[in-house]
Amino acid sequence: MSDQYKFLLTENDIPRDWYNINPDMPVNPAVTAWNAVLHPQTQEPVTPDFLAVLFPMRFIGEAVSLDRWIEIPEEVREIYKLWRPTPMIRARRLEKALDTPAHIYYKYEGVSPVGSHKPNTAVPQAFYAKQEGIAGFTTETGAGQWGSALSMAANFFGLECHVYMVKVSYHQKPYRRIIMENFGATVTASPSNKTHYGRSVLENNPDSPGSLGIAISEAVEAAVMSNGKYKYSLGSVLGPVLLHQTVIGLESLKQMEMAGEYPDVVIGCAGGGSNFAGFAFPFVHQNLTNGKNARIVAVEPTACPTLTKGKYTFDYGDTARMAPIVKMHTLGHDFVPAGIHAGGLRYHGMAPHVSALVDSGHIEAVALDQLDTFEGAMMFARAEGLFPAPESAHAVRQAINEALKAKEEGVKRVIAFNLSGHGFFDLTAYDEYNKGNLQRFEYPEAQIAESMAHLPQVTL
Ligand SMILES: *Cc1c(COP(=O)(O)O)cnc(C)c1O
Repeated sequence: MSDQYKFLLTENDIPRDWYNINPDMPVNPAVTAWNAVLHPQTQEPVTPDFLAVLFPMRFIGEAVSLDRWIEIPEEVREIYKLWRPTPMIRARRLEKALDTPAHIYYKYEGVSPVGSHKPNTAVPQAFYAKQEGIAGFTTETGAGQWGSALSMAANFFGLECHVYMVKVSYHQKPYRRIIMENFGATVTASPSNKTHYGRSVLENNPDSPGSLGIAISEAVEAAVMSNGKYKYSLGSVLGPVLLHQTVIGLESLKQMEMAGEYPDVVIGCAGGGSNFAGFAFPFVHQNLTNGKNARIVAVEPTACPTLTKGKYTFDYGDTARMAPIVKMHTLGHDFVPAGIHAGGLRYHGMAPHVSALVDSGHIEAVALDQLDTFEGAMMFARAEGLFPAPESAHAVRQAINEALKAKEEGVKRVIAFNLSGHGFFDLTAYDEYNKGNLQRFEYPEAQIAESMAHLPQVTL
């Protein structure tokens, strides 16, 4: 069919295994292996005991596994059927609007019940916790995308879910809080007086708007203090999270085959790196083992330019230095990015696997300003009818830039990007853009230099 738009799979095509990139990492395995995860106080490689306080055992097992394929439990696949497989769509109307010879495809993860890719990992994490007799999770959330995904998954398995939500978002973005509460979760504005760390932050600054790093610290503390009742759940960054997200890319490989094309460029937005890795790693696998050479591009905001301006070194995962130290691109654990609307891209660090592959040159990274990304999102929406989340808008804009470059060069190029979520709860951001209220954010050089001075002095 020459004029096909949607490439749809059946429930039978939902992958049976996740793709684990560990055995294929073309870098020193010590960098991403568990023995390069350091205890925040001793700075020695973490012990299984330390990790077992935080995470379900099966999750820890996935982090260290060197099996290329890890079976998706039947219980998880059953729940995936609620929204998977997700569609791959050729953006023909956008191609026309840009008058480009490029073919643009997007994988749309916004069809999940909570509107993003995040349930792909929330569901297996909740399943493991249930299997291991854990009462529930503590977690953090920025704008509420991760919190609503985990609340839904916890509700499916009859688990408790206690969410520390960055205070500024708690007050500005009530809709996702309501979704979490509808699923039976408790939602606490962070910094809160429920934890030692939250109280210490409030003592110093009663008006603290909070940050993702602070909320992670509160959630980790609450799990550690629960005597095993609760585990801590993270929605990005860690190896097993990237693993769970590979259903996106594995489906996409099949869908590109249905379309009779293979991407020259593969694009995703990167906050902690999970939707990017989930979409891109199966294509990286093809590059590494099957003679393909697609360009793989991670897109981040100029206001939080972790991959393009950060340092590839050891740093803490959270502000209070309670979470493990890992080797990653970082802007410093106490870096607090400007309040851009792509809240999900405001993390100071990056998934160690993504960082290592950028460092080794297997992945490219670019930073885009929020004004440019909203402009791209509007072009996309007016052509395709769909409003991307401000995070996803970074991938959209990069795809548009690649398509315009192809036009300039007069070449047909196949561009595939991941549209990680819809923007229906982010319409205020579009309103601000329309009213001309959005600012450009340049590289916050002095602020990054300041936080870089606080990196742990690791000798490895
Ligand atoms: C959370 C989120 C992101 C950023 O997180 P990653 O782990 O980098 O994927 C991107 N897009 C959407 C829609 C999100 O909800």
